[in-house]
Amino acid sequence: MGRLAAIKEFANSLTGRMVLGVLLIHALLAPLLFGGLLYIVKSGYQTQFINQVRSESHLFAYLVERDFNSVDLRARIEDILLGSMVIFLQIIRPDGTLIYDLSDTSQVRNFEEDFFFGQHDDTTYYIAIPIHKNDGDLLATIRLGYDETPTTEQIKATRQRSIYLAIIYITLTLALVAFSGFQVTQSLRRLRDAARKVVMDDNTRQLDIPTSVTEVTSLGRDLERMRWKLVHQGEMLEHQALHDSLTSLPNRNLLYERMQQALAVSQRMHKNVALFIMDLDHFKEVNDTLGHHVGDLLLQKTALRLRSALRESDTVARLGGDEFAILLPTIEDAQHAVLAAQKILKLVYRPIVLEGHTLTVGGSIGIALSPDHGQDNDTLMRHADTAMYYAKRTQSGYSVYDHDLEQQSITEPDMASKLRLAMERNELLLHYQPKVDMHTGKVSSVEALVRWQHPQQGLLMPAEFIGLAEKSGVINPLTLWVVKEALRQCLIWRQSGVDVPIAMNLSARNLQSRDMPDQIGALIKGTDINPAWLEFEISESAILSNPGNTLDVLRRLHLLGVKISIDNYGTAPASLYYLNQLPMHQIKIDKSFIADMHDAGNARIVRAAIDLAHNLGRTAIAKGVESQEAFELLKSLGCDMVQGYYMAPPLTASDLLAWLKNPTWAGNTKTSR
Ligand code: C2E
Ligand code: MG
Repeated sequence: MGRLAAIKEFANSLTGRMVLGVLLIHALLAPLLFGGLLYIVKSGYQTQFINQVRSESHLFAYLVERDFNSVDLRARIEDILLGSMVIFLQIIRPDGTLIYDLSDTSQVRNFEEDFFFGQHDDTTYYIAIPIHKNDGDLLATIRLGYDETPTTEQIKATRQRSIYLAIIYITLTLALVAFSGFQVTQSLRRLRDAARKVVMDDNTRQLDIPTSVTEVTSLGRDLERMRWKLVHQGEMLEHQALHDSLTSLPNRNLLYERMQQALAVSQRMHKNVALFIMDLDHFKEVNDTLGHHVGDLLLQKTALRLRSALRESDTVARLGGDEFAILLPTIEDAQHAVLAAQKILKLVYRPIVLEGHTLTVGGSIGIALSPDHGQDNDTLMRHADTAMYYAKRTQSGYSVYDHDLEQQSITEPDMASKLRLAMERNELLLHYQPKVDMHTGKVSSVEALVRWQHPQQGLLMPAEFIGLAEKSGVINPLTLWVVKEALRQCLIWRQSGVDVPIAMNLSARNLQSRDMPDQIGALIKGTDINPAWLEFEISESAILSNPGNTLDVLRRLHLLGVKISIDNYGTAPASLYYLNQLPMHQIKIDKSFIADMHDAGNARIVRAAIDLAHNLGRTAIAKGVESQEAFELLKSLGCDMVQGYYMAPPLTASDLLAWLKNPTWAGNTKTSR
């Protein structure tokens, strides 16, 4: 650094500013102060000199006047002059006669009377004093000269000393100011270093700012408080950035971090890493039926269950919605992974009591292992996802990734467009399953059930795409397609001489669309089919998902003249009061109760449901009737209708026509319609 730059830097520093400030103040004030002081001292000395000279000279004149006529005047004068400061003395008569002259002849002195100190630049102060006779006449004039040099010297010496004192004073002041400035600068530097540490995120240690400057100490305390807050907020932000706010489980980011670590370690140790992706079954229904609050509680409870089932070293993360990921950083092989998945599913399946509701929510787990199914995060995630969708589709609970699954997978994002395309390409079709009247043994109606004839994957069942269609919003056009197709089929059967009412299924999401009744009404109006021959099945949980809106949509549907029945009765907690409000004509008891009717509890539920339907003035239908035993039992319980494999499975339109003309089933002795 150049000298100039160093000076500049110093001048800009706090110490530099303080020193320069003091210098400037002194440059302005010192001349005034010392000049003034010197002037006062100088005037003092001069006044003192003049006063002394005056009093001495008057005394001298008095003595001369007194002894003027004595013979030894000269001796007297010399006596008086002894010890005085007089260096010049002349006594002159009025006529100019010199009586006495003490002037130094070596130095010719010209008498010039002074009126102030140093007036004539001759280092002598001259004074003239007249002496008078008793009668007042002038006797003579005494001219006296006093040496000014000692006083001038004294003034000079005082000035000299004052300058020394001023220099010492300024130097000491500057030194003190520089020292204080240095102290403050040091403290400020420490404060600055501490602040820099905070800024540079070096926040781990408590700040230590040793200083005796009170303000800096208090600033330091504030800075420490700020650091602590930053640390605290940083920790909170980090937690938020890496965790899910609802369940406090790690989120996708943290999962990815841990996966990366686990994959690195496993590659070194030649071990397997397992990644599970789990999606809860029926979560949407819980959310729709019992509200988001209960849905949230369910997710929290599930998170706790998952966490409790796994080791500390395993990671359970929530990916969003009802999707969880589980990372097992060291696992022996696929078999062990399957055992872990089974353990998790067992736990997830256990009934949960939430706000008085007992819920049973299943799950589907997709398993991918590293290194076999991928050695990086993205591949592993994608493959676990594929396996999860497969498990969901096949309702197998869990599934281990296999390359072949890839060909069969339909993932959510492309679902909407694929389904729309499928409708355009006529890949959707309806199967029909008869409902049989128990009293007459005749077919009372058929239920239209949608299927997807997928070009690569073959015939897909609704379980494989209805849920995704609901999520993606394609369910509304899909439902309208079903209605249109069912009406078309109804007309074809009629032309073949078969008049059979058709039941169709509606989803929860259909009931949230206020346009749905009008759209269905328009489709019906386009045909000459009596609306009373049409029936819409709505599952109990769907009805409860948005009671206000649902009731409105159902009433408007009812006004079209169609029938409405409650599907899957018994699977959701509907209030009887609310059920009674619904414009429905039939209650369809869920097949889970029918399949297990040898269980006394289930049998009681079925009986109660049948009685309830009758008491509300509705008919009761049991679905999922698979055996004669169930059929007979239901008959004895007074059930009005049955539907199930025992009578007929869902059939294609032409198979149904053949079946209707010759309804052969074990329990049927008569010929039905
Ligand atoms: P769901 O309305 O309860 O339909 C009855 C389901 O039970 C049908 O399954 C049928 O094949 C099956 N089933 C009939 N008899 C028996 C039996 O004796 N035992 C057993 N275990 N099952 C029997 P599918 O066709 O796979 O339909 C499944 C669900 O998909 C339907 O349940 C319905 O909720 C939904 N779904 C079907 N088609 C449509 C549709 O067009 N729109 C909507 N929104 N949902 C539909
Ligand atoms: Mg149904």
